[in-house]
Amino acid sequence: MRKSIFAGNWKMQMGPHEATKYLNEFIPQIHPDKSREWIIFAPFVSLPTLQNNLKNTPIKWGGQNCHHEPKGAFTGEISAPMLKELDCQYGLVGHSERRQFFGETDKSCALKIKALLESDITPMLCVGETQKERDGGMTQEIIKSQIEQGLEYGDPLRPLVIAYEPVWAIGTGKVATAGMAEEVHVFIRKVLSSKFGQERAGQIQILYGGSVKPENCRELIALPNIDGFLIGGASLTAKSFAQIGLIPL
Ligand code: PEP
Repeated sequence: MRKSIFAGNWKMQMGPHEATKYLNEFIPQIHPDKSREWIIFAPFVSLPTLQNNLKNTPIKWGGQNCHHEPKGAFTGEISAPMLKELDCQYGLVGHSERRQFFGETDKSCALKIKALLESDITPMLCVGETQKERDGGMTQEIIKSQIEQGLEYGDPLRPLVIAYEPVWAIGTGKVATAGMAEEVHVFIRKVLSSKFGQERAGQIQILYGGSVKPENCRELIALPNIDGFLIGGASLTAKSFAQIGLIPL
């Protein structure tokens, strides 16, 4: 049985001060639950705030990016061992905004995943097609190559989470229909199965992301291959993140 994951991606929002206020509201709503897990991907400067406030709660935290080298002359970058020092349990890799605005490639994702695994941090690899790629019938081809290349150093014995985020649905208010999302999730599991074997593929959580809100999450979570959500905008208020994260399973 795969645990459902509800992950908030704060992006470049929520400095330490705002994060503290948010957590004061969010933490009391969240109680341990064997069938679900919560994660917050916060800006680097707010990670110590999460570390201090979340350590005795069921909520986990992670970085939104990392460099693939453990240290060195890479001004402005943060390494996986540094995330580990802040007790991050997860690291986001290849979010479409990083691919689009910061030149992240499948090759750089692969190296970051390797670095995270070496630091004992679970990578969450984001994949997804643009509107143009979907219109051109290329969705499966794109997803397959993002997964195969991104997981070049993936290890069937190490933890991994995939987030399917159609680029056209991120921050746009457009949500994939249940049929579209399930179809891609089944396909992702098939690709994982050919890489890691069917048993391991069946254990890997595949999250959906793209304009998920309390109003539209019920239909999606009911689908057999949707194991939770990666949530941007709606994770910015404690109330709506908790509403999504506490949805009946
Ligand atoms: C995201 O940032 O990963 C995301 C899915 O954003 P939103 O929920 O705002 O579409």
